[in-house]
Amino acid sequence: MSEMINIFQPSLGTRELAAVQEVFESNWIGRGPRTAAFEAEFARHIGVDPGHVTSVNSCTEATFLAMELAGVGPGTEVVMPTVSFVGAANAVAARGARPVFCDVDPHGLNPTADSIRAAMTPRTKAVLVLHYGGYPGDIAAIAQLCRERGVLLIEDAAIAIDSRVDGRACGTFGDLAVWSFDHGKIVVTVDGGMLYVRDPELAARAPRLAYFGLEQASGYDQAQRSRTRWWEFEVSAFARRSVTNDVLTAVGSVQLSRLPEFMARRREVARRYDQEFAGLQGMSCPPQLPEGHETSHYMYWVRFDGGIRDEVARDLYERGIYTTFRYPLLHKVAAYGSDVVLPDAEDAAERTLLLPMHQSLSDDDVERVVTAVRSSVRARRRADEGR
Ligand SMILES: *Cc1c(COP(=O)(O)O)cnc(C)c1O
Repeated sequence: MSEMINIFQPSLGTRELAAVQEVFESNWIGRGPRTAAFEAEFARHIGVDPGHVTSVNSCTEATFLAMELAGVGPGTEVVMPTVSFVGAANAVAARGARPVFCDVDPHGLNPTADSIRAAMTPRTKAVLVLHYGGYPGDIAAIAQLCRERGVLLIEDAAIAIDSRVDGRACGTFGDLAVWSFDHGKIVVTVDGGMLYVRDPELAARAPRLAYFGLEQASGYDQAQRSRTRWWEFEVSAFARRSVTNDVLTAVGSVQLSRLPEFMARRREVARRYDQEFAGLQGMSCPPQLPEGHETSHYMYWVRFDGGIRDEVARDLYERGIYTTFRYPLLHKVAAYGSDVVLPDAEDAAERTLLLPMHQSLSDDDVERVVTAVRSSVRARRRADEGR
């Protein structure tokens, strides 16, 4: 049988390897000039000042930092869609706060301003949203709602690296935002994340919180200034070590420069799927993007009318095609202690399937997926109707 087709897949090559080699040869592999350059490039990419972004070792770590900067703690609540990444809810619960889960739009799987409003209480300290599949969703209306209520908005833009509304980057609508560069994302540093903080004072605290809570930028800086070898320090917070290093961020710079090329291919693949599946009865494609919205095309998700999702997934697997559902509903996780009923998300979680979507898919791969999906859906629908 031919090779399995992955759902997500990184594109790392000789340019990334050359960048790593250069860092090795420089003898400075820790956090240094390459990390500063990557932060500046990323800040330019999302249209903010570089002083407001901090490069860290994962998006989950960035979310933990964001919760601390936002003042989330015991007695407070954070509203988030139940279709969220598990690390986001962990970041809330780890601070002794309560994650409060809201419903999502049944087709787009993003939270709406109404679903968030319905979950707000006087204890709501922050709202955390993600951009499902890369679709911006109701982000402008949600930002407006948070401003009116005096509640902080945190954007999990992990999968929205090239998503925009009227030219404005997702991640810059709220007060804090996080991105991921892990092995399954579009821009990959092997592991890594980025934190954006709008407020200048909080933004200045972020790099300290990412490095032991030290007041100085690094021990090296301090030694340079004091012109001794000592590593003296002042501690402003009892913080962890969340920083990344120049080996990984050098990879990130190359990847970011390739993003337009990655996006061009992802758009082509999405267009192909849209065209090929348009007339297929019983299955629908991702919703149309509203005017002015741009997606990163991180996911391509389809929705089935009947109860055939798992059977189609099995057929595709047998034909060498991986599929999945993201993200498993968090209000169903016992540890978060939620007993709400969220009908639209629960329905979507039964009907939704993610098909392979990445920039390394060949035309043949796409053709294989299209053919397999079509024949499986037709056969399973016939069987479903016969029951
Ligand atoms: C991958 C992902 C994360 C976590 O990213 P890491 O860098 O692996 O910690 C967070 N949120 C979403 C929506 C993700 O898809």
